[in-house]
Order: sequence, then C-alpha cells, then structure tokens
Amino acid sequence: MAEKRVALITGAGRGIGAAIALTLAKENTDIAVVDYADESAAAETLAALREAGAAARYYRCDVSDFAAAKEVVDAIAKDFGKIDILVNNAGITADKLILRMEEEDWDKVLAVNLKGCFNMIKHVTPYMMRKRCGRIVSVSSVVGLMGNAGQANYAASKAGIVGLTKTVAKEFGPRNITANAVAPGFIKTAMTEALSEEQKKAMYKLIPLGCLGETQDIANAVKFLVSDDARYITGVVLKVDGGMYI
Ligand code: NAD
Repeated sequence: MAEKRVALITGAGRGIGAAIALTLAKENTDIAVVDYADESAAAETLAALREAGAAARYYRCDVSDFAAAKEVVDAIAKDFGKIDILVNNAGITADKLILRMEEEDWDKVLAVNLKGCFNMIKHVTPYMMRKRCGRIVSVSSVVGLMGNAGQANYAASKAGIVGLTKTVAKEFGPRNITANAVAPGFIKTAMTEALSEEQKKAMYKLIPLGCLGETQDIANAVKFLVSDDARYITGVVLKVDGGMYI
C-alpha cells in the first residue's frame, strides 16, 4: 500500500472544507483540520475523519495571522512528520454595495480569504520543498472571475487567489509542487439553504445544469487535483459551477 499522505485543510471544521477533508481521508490521507472556530464546532467532522481511518487532529488558528499560521504549520509538520497537501479553503463574506462598504469590511475579507492563502503557502512550502513534492489547492469562486454586485471585497479576494495560484505554480513548479484553484459556483450549504424558493428559482436560471452544486462536487475536484492523475496540471482554475460562468 502506498505511503499515507498528510493534508492540511483550512476551514475544514464544516461545509465545503469538511467535505474535502472526508473525501481525502477516504483516499489514504491523514488530516490536519485548521479552523478559527472552537474545536467543539468540528467534533462531528473529526469523528467522521477518524471513522474513515484517518489520523485527524484539530488546530485552532486564524489563517490571517501570519505568526499564528507559522506556529500551526510547524506544529502540524512536527506532529505528522510532513505536509504533502495544502488546501486553502477558509473563507468569509461581508457583503455590501461599495456605497455602504466600510474599510473594515474590505480589510477583514481580504485578510482571511487572500492573505490567509499567502500565509499558509509561505509557511508550508519550505516543508514541501524539502520533500521535492507538494500539492496546493486554493478555493476561489466564480464570483472572483465574474464579479458580483455587493461583493467587491469577496470578488477581489477570490480573483487574487487566481493570480496567487498562477504565481505559485511558476515559482514552485521546478520543485515539483503544483498549485491549482477550484472555483465553485452556488453550492448547497447552510447559506444557500436559507434562501427563499423565489431566490432559488432566480439562481437556477443562471445555471445551465439547473441546480445547485453539492459540497461533494467541490471535494471531488480537489481529490483529482491532489492525485497522481493530475501530476502534469498546475496553474489552472477549475470551475465547478454547473456552467454558470459560460
Ligand atoms: P463555511 O462558512 O460553511 O465554512 C468556512 C469555514 O472556515 C468555517 O469552519 C470557519 O470557521 C472557517 N474560517 C473562517 N474564518 C477563518 C479564519 N480566519 N481562519 C481559519 N478558519 C476560518 O463556508 P463554505 O460555504 O464551506 O465555504 C468554504 C470556501 O468555499 C470559502 O472559501 C468560500 O468562499 C468558498 N466558496 C463557497 C461557495 C458556496 O456556495 N458555499 C461558493 C464559492 C466559494
């Protein structure tokens, strides 16, 4: 049997991150769950990961904090002995039209969604370079490619992930580290479930496949991008959006 891999996944306590974690756990991968919420919020996810046969540990960290991110990455490398895979999934929104958007709304979304990715990449890549091997996947959004009224901060952060990913692919390609992004469209989560039937119908009209995506659809894309089958793929933005971007 192949050697077990180790994946560091941010924002893996719930939602899309938890689905990615569980999917990789079923692929012979141990999981470091990095999340800002209290560990109790991730209890269900951790139990499911262990049930799937993974060694899973929780690390509480705000990814936007450069020094805290380094501490956590170093602890994970020590606890697991290596880091093969980094999935930058943690993300937040603070939606407002620019007319009403405060400086703080801009700063906090960029800090978590974009600087958070930089922080993790900065601290994880030295470990990957030592092994001359690594896989990085960052979760962007179709909103970063299309723009969206009321989400200037979020769209800019998700577009920033695209530029960051392409740069990481170029800088670290010679070290056998790939960097790719996944751009989800509308995915069924607590947030989209809370929308009215009317709002949902309006949303379906924008999606050629006529339905929302599942968290598993994003996890499947990440599973592929970190697999050996994707060894020659780097710097891509894989849209998982039911055709919404077309
Ligand atoms: P979610 O809010 O359900 O989960 C996000 C997780 O990130 C939570 O566990 C939260 O505690 C954690 N987190 C938040 N801030 C953090 C920080 N500073 N440091 C560490 N962890 C932090 O969100 P989700 O819907 O599962 O989204 C996951 C990712 O997918 C995000 O990057 C989001 O922008 C992106 N995305 C989601 C959708 C969608 O439809 N849900 C669409 C496109 C992109």
